[in-house]
Amino acid sequence: MITRILNADAEALACARDLIGKGDVVAFHTETVYGLGANAFDEAAIAKIFALKGRPSDNPLIAHVHRAYNISKLIDNEPAYAAKLREAFLPGPLTMVYPSTGKVSALVSCGLNTLAIRVPSSPTAQAFLRAVDLPIAAPSANLSKHVSPVAAKHVYDDFCGRIPLILDGGACEGGIESTVLDCTGEVPVVLRAGLVTREMIASVAGACGVYEKRAGEKPKSPGMAYRHYSPKCRTAYYTDAEEAKRRYREEESAGGKPYILCAENAVPDGDFRVLDLGSAPEQMANRLYALLRQGENATLLIAIEPRLRGGVMEGVLNRFMRAFGRDTDEA
Ligand code: AMP
Ligand code: MG
Repeated sequence: MITRILNADAEALACARDLIGKGDVVAFHTETVYGLGANAFDEAAIAKIFALKGRPSDNPLIAHVHRAYNISKLIDNEPAYAAKLREAFLPGPLTMVYPSTGKVSALVSCGLNTLAIRVPSSPTAQAFLRAVDLPIAAPSANLSKHVSPVAAKHVYDDFCGRIPLILDGGACEGGIESTVLDCTGEVPVVLRAGLVTREMIASVAGACGVYEKRAGEKPKSPGMAYRHYSPKCRTAYYTDAEEAKRRYREEESAGGKPYILCAENAVPDGDFRVLDLGSAPEQMANRLYALLRQGENATLLIAIEPRLRGGVMEGVLNRFMRAFGRDTDEA
């Protein structure tokens, strides 16, 4: 199969609509990361997504819709705060989890009685979703556990010859996956941190919780149980810059080619290969995945944990630590 990378012009959109209509998958740009989408009503097409990615069958997908799509057939009981949040943040990088009416394929939510819905703001995603006028179930367009894709080339690198079409919208501005928010209770609860922060949600909804998994419990957002976002090379993780530098020298003297991934204020003086995350939280989110993929050219990718905390850093740190095997149940 030839994998085409096309801008979302009329011809590409017609092609995308045909592919989705016949149960195929289409990768597409969003403002967070690229998605790998299929018709949420089509069981066989959804099964294809899981198979292509090698995604565990208990990690549910997000249904993406265009801004005018009527979601009332997909979900039950929207709380008043959820309507306010939609008004404030959609379209944008916020996924909202509702009680499901069960109309989409049961595979989308992996048998849960809830459905996650997102309205992306990317013009490419909106054009695609309008062209098909269907809910498109889509996880990130990477092989399971690999680093999420923030450029069409990243999708191509993971799925070349296995998917027919990538709708190219350029680099993803946001750079980390959407905030996932549980809207099934009295107060919204963040299941996965992202660019729409807990503080932003609380300022609109009046309150916002953050889900914390208790030991031994199955997480409410099943995807959070897996090691994710991992570069393919060997990795090492430090909170101390001096230790990181020592490890770099060791690797170099053993004939290796190490890289250091760190925030701007931690960039070491001297002769080091550095992948610079920048300084502002949004900048770090924007650069993280591209740098993790670039870092795969190293024999050893050495991370120094950024010091900033709060707001968007919650999402950045969550991805950063999980990429290096920290902050997760599973190896
Ligand atoms: P991905 O699209 O690869 O970023 O993964 C989607 C994320 O959304 C995963 O972390 C899922 O666990 C989460 N998710 C999707 N549907 C639901 C749902 N119904 N309830 C809770 N979390 C969900
Ligand atoms: Mg993913």
